Order: sequence, then C-alpha cells, then structure tokens
Amino acid sequence: MTIPLDSAVTLQSLLASGELSAVDVARSVLERAAATESTVAAFTYRPDERLLEQAEAIDRRRREGQPLGPLAGIPVAVKDVLCTTDMPTTCSSRMLENFRSPYDATVVAQLRAADALLVGKTNMDEFAMGASTENSAFGLTRNPWASTCTPGGSSGGAAAAVAASVVPLSVGSDTGGSIRQPAAFCGVTGLKPTYGRVSRYGLVAFASSLDQVGPLAWDVADNALLLSHLAGFDPRDSTSLDAPVEDYLAAVSPAATADLKGLRIGLIREHVDHQRLAAPARQAVLDAVGVLTAAGAEVVDVHFDQTKYWVPTYYIIAPCEASSNLSRYDGAHYGFRAQPAAEAAQQHGPLTATYCQSRDQGFGAEVKRRIMLGTYSLSEGYADRYYAKALQVRRLIRDDYDAAFGKVDLLLGPVTPGPAFPLGEKVDDPLEMYLCDQFTVGANLAGIPAISLPAGHDENNLPLGVQLQAPPLGEAALLRAGTVFQNATDHHRRRPQL
Ligand code: GLN
Repeated sequence: MTIPLDSAVTLQSLLASGELSAVDVARSVLERAAATESTVAAFTYRPDERLLEQAEAIDRRRREGQPLGPLAGIPVAVKDVLCTTDMPTTCSSRMLENFRSPYDATVVAQLRAADALLVGKTNMDEFAMGASTENSAFGLTRNPWASTCTPGGSSGGAAAAVAASVVPLSVGSDTGGSIRQPAAFCGVTGLKPTYGRVSRYGLVAFASSLDQVGPLAWDVADNALLLSHLAGFDPRDSTSLDAPVEDYLAAVSPAATADLKGLRIGLIREHVDHQRLAAPARQAVLDAVGVLTAAGAEVVDVHFDQTKYWVPTYYIIAPCEASSNLSRYDGAHYGFRAQPAAEAAQQHGPLTATYCQSRDQGFGAEVKRRIMLGTYSLSEGYADRYYAKALQVRRLIRDDYDAAFGKVDLLLGPVTPGPAFPLGEKVDDPLEMYLCDQFTVGANLAGIPAISLPAGHDENNLPLGVQLQAPPLGEAALLRAGTVFQNATDHHRRRPQL
C-alpha cells in the first residue's frame, strides 16, 4: 500500500482503523525524505532515529488500549523559528547555530500533546526575514516543482516539505506573508491566522506586532485539522486572544460546504489591476471569481485607498520591531559569541568588541540590513518621521479593511506578483525581494486572517495561488470558502514530478 503522506485526514483514518501503524508512516517519511531531500533540502534537522521511537511508542500505546491524541502518528514538520527542547532552534542563523531551547513553544507542546510525530525542523530565511529562503545560513531549499526556483520564504522549508510529500502538515510563521507566499510558490495551502489566535510563546520574535504562527498542507481540510490543534488562548502570550475557538472541522464538513449562497466577496481592484501582477497570476484570480460565483457567492469590486503604502509601512514597522527584538543577541546572553581580536579589544574595550564582533559574525547581510533600517527609523529626530508616521498609516490601512468588511464578508486577490522565481534572481536586489510582499503584508498590518489557495499553474507548470482574507477571527469562514473552492477545482491535487 502506498502511504498517503500528502493527506493528514486520510492518514488519520487509516491509523485509527489499524490499516496503518505509526511505524509504517514513520518509515515511509524516512524513505521519502531520503528520496527528495538531496534535491529539495527542506529540513535543517531531522532526528530520524527518534522518529521511529516516537512511532513505536504510539503503536505500543494503541495496542495497550491507552488513550491517544487526535494527531497520533501524523507526521508534522516545524519551522526552525519555533522553540523545541529536543531539537536545535536555529532560525537558520549562525547566531543560534548551537542554541537549545530550555522550553517548547506552546504550539510544539500542543502538537506533542496531540501525539503528532515531530519529523524535524524546516529551513527558513534567517530570523524569518526574506521571501526566498536564500537568507538561510544553512543552504538553499529548492522548489519541488522546479529545482532551479525558490520555494518562497521565509517558511520555504515548511512549504517545500509538504510539496515534496515528506510530511502532510507543517507549521510556519507569517510576519508579512511567510506562510502564504511559499504556499503559493509550492502549490500548497497555507493560512495566516488572526493576530493572537495562535500562541507566539516560543516563536522567536521577528516583529512582535505582526508575527503569527499557522498551518501549511496540501488542502484546506488538512489546514483546518492542524489549525484546530494550534489555535487557542495561551496565558503565556500577552497578546493571545481569549476568545472561543471555532469548530474548524465543522467549517470544512460537507454540511457546511455545499455552496456559498449569501456570501459576499470583495475583489481588491487595486491588486487585480496592479501593473506588477503577472498575467497568469491575474488570470488565476479571475478564474477564482468564476468558481466562487458558480458556487453561489456574489463577487463585487472593493477599493483600498492605501495599497501603495502597504510595503513602505511594513518595511518601517517590521525592521523597527526587529532591531529591538534582535538586540538580545549580543554574544553575552545566548547565541554565538565571537572571540574579539586583540586589536579590537584594545581599541574599543573587550565588552564592546565582543558585542560588535558577535553580531557582525553571527548575523547575515539581510538581518543586518533590517537592524540598520529599524535603528535608523527609531533614532532620535527620525522616529516621528518614520516609525510614528508608519503607525499612523497602519491605522489608515486598517480603516480600509474595516470599510471593506462593512460591505463584504471576505476579500479575494492575488498572493504574489507571479510564480516562483529562479534562485539567485533577486538576492542582490532587496527592493525587488520586498515587493514580493505587496499583496500579503496588509493582513499582518491589520491583524486579520488570510489563506493562500492553489489556483492554477503557469505555462512552466509552476503553481499559482489566490488569497482570501477575512475579518478578525474569520478563520472558519476562510476554511469554509476554501473548501468550496477546492471541491470545485483540482489545483491542490496536482503533484510535482520529483
Ligand atoms: N518577506 C517578508 C519579509 O522579509 C515577510 C517575512 C515573514 O513573513 N516572516 O519581511
């Protein structure tokens, strides 16, 4: 029997009925990883022996009739920005190369409590800064659809691990698009939850007012399954929302997803008409309009006044927060510590020299760029002009969303300007790289949930995505509409030849 490593829902029923054991699943994960990782390199760390031990323990407990968690035996990969006690947490940075967290992130603890098989940690842009995973200190990850292309980023490894069918589920983080953009590039489904819906405890901070943890998987049903185990109030995260978690599995059930009658969807005109949107990506959005309309939704145009300020606003606020969050990596508290050269120690004093050289050697170029941008934007005399101004514009961007959600239930638009781009194409052009985020950062600035759905393939067989966005805590609505979309399409069923 071929083991369906591309569907957690299917694995769940095969495991529950006893047709498959957790060890069968774990072995198949290891075989698949052995076959694909030399090309894709989605993982920074895989404790392969312990995977079999985890699986044996689950099978033993099942035989003994002990209670098992709902994800028992389901393989899950975790982006290397989430703290794990039994695996390194590097954020794909030299700075944390040898870091072991003394605690698990809440989402990791929740996965363990559900008896998921933790397959390993996935590659990412250093400290989640980037859109191609090329900023990793530990090497490239390749797109499973085309090995010359990037998988996107920063959760590139998480998306590629799913697209290579090594794991059915992975956990990513999204500060400006880092779940949705790699999901689109890798032809899988990824959801950024409402700010505060999923705990950030143990998520290494990039930009704390924007960061959210969320699921990636081939389809919406698997996203719903994983999200139901990630979401919830966490007293250890001061921005966690103490609101009831909706029944995400009910939202994707046949009873809820017969059609979309009565649903109003706004098409973001400024994005669909954007001159930087490639024709096939635009066509994918227009095709989605047809699918959603046929399912009974009413699609109307909506206008966002501030879209041209999304990227500038994000690239002030995110670096400001990053420069503050990353000040903790000083060579003294934790992380990499340089041995300062005698000359530098003499000139600046040993402490300053240690700080400077640890940060100089521990951080990569993009992280340094963000620290400089953020420090500058927060510095005396400039903070009002940049940071304070960006916060004001952020308010206006939220106002645009509020106005739109006064008229429609969901928003539809593109995820990325085009399909996955070749490795190396944008590494020397940070501005081009930043513009990859122009359709995604709005949801982070406004704190709302958004999902990226596979929506077609271009002439090179590279995946294309569409994005649905919802008002705060509208995850169930996104999952429901996404399921109706996937019931009517087969883009999420296509698999790369690997
Ligand atoms: N590409 C964006 C950036 O570089 C978003 C990254 C993210 O969401 N973590 O900041």
